[in-house]
Amino acid sequence: MRIRLEDYAIHNAMEDMADQAIEQVLSEDRTACDCPDCRDDVKSQILNKVPPFYHPLISGEPRRQSIMLEDLATDLFNKIMVECYKALIRVKENPRHSDDRSELHNTTERILRLAVGEVLSNQKVHLDRDDLSRLMSGALNGLKPAYTTTHKGDAFTRASEIDTAYLAQVYSEIFKALDGLKGNDAQTS
Ligand SMILES: [Zn+2]
Repeated sequence: MRIRLEDYAIHNAMEDMADQAIEQVLSEDRTACDCPDCRDDVKSQILNKVPPFYHPLISGEPRRQSIMLEDLATDLFNKIMVECYKALIRVKENPRHSDDRSELHNTTERILRLAVGEVLSNQKVHLDRDDLSRLMSGALNGLKPAYTTTHKGDAFTRASEIDTAYLAQVYSEIFKALDGLKGNDAQTS
């Protein structure tokens, strides 16, 4: 079974936090480039330094209101702001205004898609869209994000190129998330 991007719907709420932090920092630093490319580069660096906060977008349910940066616990707020300042300095020093860019994406999500497809085939489990969304966001929250704006990371989506310890962790998060789904069923039935 092959899981495609369009087979599920998830959102990392940390992306909204990062956007808000970038907005704030850019408004204070007029010397920084605020083009979409530089924003994405800053954003991907922030997102790789803070814990992901994925949630499934369940069909028919209203989209959750985004959390405001100011409402976060102080530690997390400070962490995001510090990483934002650091990332902005790096991007300012070395802006990547080239054509060799991909849209901001989390390569961990691609690896997970491959592994989830394999597990579901082996276990002969069929998940509907919402459960697949729950599984993907649950597992992603247990894995280190690897956001990128280049095509380079895509090579790592070939399972053979990923080290086995990491792969073991990916499978462990998938099975944990699958167990979570079963727990939900038991509660509702
Ligand atoms: Zn720029």
